[in-house]
Amino acid sequence: MNKVYSVAIDGPSGAGKSSVARAAAQKLGFLYVDTGAIYRTVGLAAFRRGIGSRDRDAVVSMLPELDIQLRYGDDGLQHMFLDGDDVSAEIRLPEISIYASDVSAYPEVRAYLMEMQRSLARTNSVIMDGRDIGTVVLPDAGLKIFLTASPEARAQRRLLELEKKGQSVTFEEVLRDIQYRDKNDSERDAAPLKQAEDAVLVDTTEIDFDASCAVVEKLIRERFGL
Ligand code: C5P
Repeated sequence: MNKVYSVAIDGPSGAGKSSVARAAAQKLGFLYVDTGAIYRTVGLAAFRRGIGSRDRDAVVSMLPELDIQLRYGDDGLQHMFLDGDDVSAEIRLPEISIYASDVSAYPEVRAYLMEMQRSLARTNSVIMDGRDIGTVVLPDAGLKIFLTASPEARAQRRLLELEKKGQSVTFEEVLRDIQYRDKNDSERDAAPLKQAEDAVLVDTTEIDFDASCAVVEKLIRERFGL
């Protein structure tokens, strides 16, 4: 079997992890795995069933019933399926972001999704982004990057992204959502968001998308000699 390489990219919401990781993966021929989309799908499942995201017992009880699949389309993009439906667009709605952040705090949810994430990295060279990839999911990843930016810079970027998709939200709403998720993600007991000791810190507050991609691509090429 060919050698496979793993790159873990962690960081807070809206730091640009997914766009940067997707672009780098495409350039290098790696598989891009967006683990946030998997947590969002669990959040959506709770939402669709009318289960409150803070109702831990109900969220945990629904897990054995779920049919969650991650598939790559002909477009090369990751699509999420819930009970047979392609929910890749629906999981991006702001209310589902909050649901995802809440349900991801439950250790049972994290354990339930662990194997899906690890199995992708066993057979493919991956760039996987999330919150705990370098610390928990792929502790032996060949390269770990912690990608961050100030909350205001992240809110501004997320706002533009949502506006492009035709969703009408204000800067204040997006900033509040980011601050809520930062607090939730870093203060939870189960796999909190934190930089792995051996991760390279990349702060994108002052640099644009192309420059961020260039930094990440260079780190990967140098680390693996590609
Ligand atoms: O990355 P994204 O914003 O799509 O993730 C949605 C939510 O899923 C995050 O707010 C975070 O709470 C959770 N998440 C997580 N661990 C990951 C990826 C995402 O807890 N590896």
